[in-house]
Amino acid sequence: MDLQELRDANQKRHVEWAKDADIPLSFRGIELAGEAGEVCNELKKIERTRLGMVGGKVGTQDLQEELADVLVCVDLIAMDLGIDLGEALRAKFNKTSEKYGLATRL
Ligand SMILES: [Mg+2]
Repeated sequence: MDLQELRDANQKRHVEWAKDADIPLSFRGIELAGEAGEVCNELKKIERTRLGMVGGKVGTQDLQEELADVLVCVDLIAMDLGIDLGEALRAKFNKTSEKYGLATRL
């Protein structure tokens, strides 16, 4: 799956979900923070298992879902601001590689 496929689906679903509502960036930020928190909660449960604690979780299915939710939220913010997320990703990845003298580029 590529980022354009996600963007197309986000644009289509946004119409279904929000109808005519003008979603503010503050809502998008809260949405992203909530999903990032859910990722951290899944990591906590995996770490509980690794540490031999009660309340742990085996497997990564729920973590995978929360990571996917984060990507959806990031794309929604980019969508609202007209940002080409693929190009932003490429530029930032390469900028970081250059900063640290690493050869890998997108
Ligand atoms: Mg979630």
